[in-house]
Amino acid sequence: MNTLAEAAVDLTAIEQNVRTIGAAADTALMAVVKADGFGHGAVPVARAALRAGAGWLGVASAAEALALRAAGITAPVLSWLHRPDDDFAALIAAGTDIGVSTVAHLHAVADAARALGVPATVQLKADTGLSRNGAAERDWPEVTGWARKFELEGAVRVRAVWSHLADADVPDSPGLSRQVTLFEEALALARAAGLDPDLVHLANSAAALGAPRTRYDLCRIGLALYGVDPFGGNGPGRYGLRAAMTLRAGVVNVKRVPAGTGVSYGPEHVTRGPTTLALLPLGYADGLPRAAEGRGAVRLAGRRCPIVGRIAMDQCVVDAGDLPVEIGDEAVVFGPERDDDRTQPTVAQWARWARTIPNEILTGVGARVVRRYRHDETELS
Ligand SMILES: *Cc1c(COP(=O)(O)O)cnc(C)c1O
Repeated sequence: MNTLAEAAVDLTAIEQNVRTIGAAADTALMAVVKADGFGHGAVPVARAALRAGAGWLGVASAAEALALRAAGITAPVLSWLHRPDDDFAALIAAGTDIGVSTVAHLHAVADAARALGVPATVQLKADTGLSRNGAAERDWPEVTGWARKFELEGAVRVRAVWSHLADADVPDSPGLSRQVTLFEEALALARAAGLDPDLVHLANSAAALGAPRTRYDLCRIGLALYGVDPFGGNGPGRYGLRAAMTLRAGVVNVKRVPAGTGVSYGPEHVTRGPTTLALLPLGYADGLPRAAEGRGAVRLAGRRCPIVGRIAMDQCVVDAGDLPVEIGDEAVVFGPERDDDRTQPTVAQWARWARTIPNEILTGVGARVVRRYRHDETELS
């Protein structure tokens, strides 16, 4: 291995996932590349998704939207989590769509558009059950009313009406039906206010794959884009998604120790018999959750080997038993699922070990882990 710790990102897998989801959902797709592309790198993932036919890019913050433009990406972009003092003029000038959830935001966006002399393109978000962002039911008439006023004035154009689902990953969720009903009502009210959105969107990954009636014109795809089953294996099918990230490191030290040897901080782990310990330069600052203590494992020397003792900030210790392990040998923390080889953990397994979700493991991969991009078996950078 030529680096100590790396996250190898397979851009061919990203492309393939876009095609797989696009074929299943039969709608346009928005590749959600917030949080640096779920830790994979927003710009390379965005480019791969666009190559494979995604029509849109979605991010949370204005800064994330502007970073895509700064990288030279001209495709349609939507950002949706804005602070009142965000630089809406910068977004309008960059030609990105602005997700709007409140009257106050709408006024701020219209003010920026007037000052710039360029209309803002907005996507109005309704809250249909998450109680996070999105206009609440009682505020929706006011939001759509002001949006129509600003449209007539020429300050804004309403491109879309949209919302976000709370539990699309739960098959047959009654909450989902209720959200669809509320969304339909919000859409009808928007049209009654005189708005005529080109785009209507509601579905995330799980809904795109599992709930056809939520697909409308566009599905916003996060987790599935990165090749992780949004149903955690409990969904309506196997989708042929391919995990894009492999987190791995070369062994930096190896020692043979006798029984009774303490390992890592604290008293938790003492070897039961003579064994070989392999040290990996990956710790919780690199994304290995301490909460996986006693459960986490890696693939090393062709086997699954447990991480023993506490995971430290920069490193962790693997018990390799009597396997022949040498400094420099590659250990895979997680990577794609392989039907022929169950020794390699997946990110979903790590999430279960740490009592969390794969999204948190992926976005937790630390900044000092080098991202290396592969495309069609070729090293790109
Ligand atoms: C993160 C996010 C998504 C992507 O969700 P997945 O379940 O990962 O597909 C879609 N829409 C919004 C508004 C989001 O914040």
